[in-house]
Amino acid sequence: MSLLPALAACLVLLSLTGLGATRPPAPPPGKTVVNGREYQEMAAFARDKGMTYSWDGRSRSLRVSSKSVRLDFSINQRDMKVNGVVVWLSFPVVLVSGKVYLSTTDVRSTLDPLLRPPRNAAGQKVRVVALDPGHGGHQPGHQAGAELEKTHALLLARKVRALLRASGLTVVMTRDSDEFVDLDQRPEIARRQKADVFVSLHYNGVEGEGSSASGVEVYCLTPAGASSTNTRGDSSISDKAWPGNLNNSRNMLLAFQVHKAIVGAVDANDRGVRRARFAVLRNATMPAILVEGGFMSDPTEAKRIYSAAGRDQLARAIVDGILAYKRLVER
Ligand SMILES: [Zn+2]
Repeated sequence: MSLLPALAACLVLLSLTGLGATRPPAPPPGKTVVNGREYQEMAAFARDKGMTYSWDGRSRSLRVSSKSVRLDFSINQRDMKVNGVVVWLSFPVVLVSGKVYLSTTDVRSTLDPLLRPPRNAAGQKVRVVALDPGHGGHQPGHQAGAELEKTHALLLARKVRALLRASGLTVVMTRDSDEFVDLDQRPEIARRQKADVFVSLHYNGVEGEGSSASGVEVYCLTPAGASSTNTRGDSSISDKAWPGNLNNSRNMLLAFQVHKAIVGAVDANDRGVRRARFAVLRNATMPAILVEGGFMSDPTEAKRIYSAAGRDQLARAIVDGILAYKRLVER
């Protein structure tokens, strides 16, 4: 055999076995790579968790369930449901060669924290809650007629504080008057006061005629490398890891428990647990969430937001969610 055919045969063999330098390594069994991202086969994910898997080809949707948990997914969708509560995945569920796949990022950062909630070390209790009423001073937040978001966020925070204190918890506020507090200062105040969780309180709004958005949503920090559901205010921010990412699992668990409590108690559209790299979430050194308690721009929802009864109902739900989180991590 002359040298040239032998070399050619060698190159063919290299490319067939994937040993050529330009080819990425093949993913392990049950996994695949889509757009450069690792995905896991949904059937294997379900088996791992001891859950059953059913696929509805007509609606291109699937359910993964156990006695106590029901996960509903749709192909090419980022929004899914956990026991009927909307949760946004970091990446859509995909169908490849007749098999359904879920991103490894979502297994780790979205679903594992809910299916196997993190646990605090023995004796590590949730004692101090930092409440962060949005905006203040020269920053009113959303405006609807004469109503200002900063005013209603503070009223809500004071109600949540009263209920948390009645439950035996200590509360720190990042502001307790109509003052301006820098975004970077807010998680710093919580850290100095040794807060165990950080809850930022806001109301939504859309400007312009004809917009009909309404409903409640709860944000936690986007996992490193993933894209946010809301890029408002963070379009210039890279997807690197932030201090807040150290608490990925607890962020998700806290966001889900509070959002579940809100949609269970308040008659409002479920806009889901969402992801954003808001400054207060990026820099929080403790588990942190941001609650959007409804749209001031929606006339029906605005009535609930401005009324004492509506505020009490939302405040109670937020407290129920925080207490549910506390029970889970202290179990
Ligand atoms: Zn706001």
